[in-house]
Amino acid sequence: MMRLYVLGSGSRGNCFAVEADDTAILLDAGFSAREIERRADSAGLDLALVAGIALTHEHGDHTCGAPRLARRLGVPVLTAPGTWDRLAPAMGRIAYHPIGLRAVVELGPFRVEACPTSHDAADPVALAVRTGDGAGVGVAYDLGRPTAAVRYLLQNLTALVLEANHDEIRLRTSSYPPAVQRRIAGSGGHLSNRAAAELLSELHHPGLSVVVLAHLSQRCNSADDARAMVGPALRRLGFGGALHVAEQDVPLPPIDVVAPGRVQLGLALGLEPGMAPGL
Ligand SMILES: [Zn+2]
Ligand SMILES: [Zn+2]
Repeated sequence: MMRLYVLGSGSRGNCFAVEADDTAILLDAGFSAREIERRADSAGLDLALVAGIALTHEHGDHTCGAPRLARRLGVPVLTAPGTWDRLAPAMGRIAYHPIGLRAVVELGPFRVEACPTSHDAADPVALAVRTGDGAGVGVAYDLGRPTAAVRYLLQNLTALVLEANHDEIRLRTSSYPPAVQRRIAGSGGHLSNRAAAELLSELHHPGLSVVVLAHLSQRCNSADDARAMVGPALRRLGFGGALHVAEQDVPLPPIDVVAPGRVQLGLALGLEPGMAPGL
């Protein structure tokens, strides 16, 4: 079983982690190292278990704590080559594993895959982290539009962390100058609540049990608006899992991500999860 930690998400910082078999990977490190340590502690994540830090792109709200934390923990950074080129001056002797369409990294129990996204950064990627039992977590945010590569990468995962950045009307009527509005809504910007609902409807499958909406704009969105757009779209497809909204300032309680066959068969037999070894 995998456990997903949502330490915080938004334009002022993004950091997630997955843990399985006493190993963890941080997915982005966009708070200071000290703040990530504080949030990990309050969420119950033991940073001593971290074996690597995967980074989606070089923007500070995704990477600012990465150099110090990677040095302190003595772990490698996993990211796309163009992102590494931007970050290398701050990284010193930190080890680097390239990830991307032709570079899959195996780290402890995890298989880390990535694909390019459409965003105004050097070499941005979405991430998919899977374990051998069939559980998997996908992370896609800071994307202007979902490309075919993103749709392919995020297929058949048990948990999806997806950007629901803004409500389209709130963005259009916001105090942002028109050029900024165009950048946010454009193909190198951020996914709206409506775009997130459409993509989740495409990606929905019976094994999807956890959805986390992330990177909400503080000015042009709210957790209620995001839920109101995405919740009904998922329910129409029969989604019976958990829908969470990541917060900027506080971590969510840890989320268990169970491989699909295990939970459904266990429940069908009236068994508690964990009571049926071998299922
Ligand atoms: Zn961002
Ligand atoms: Zn960005």
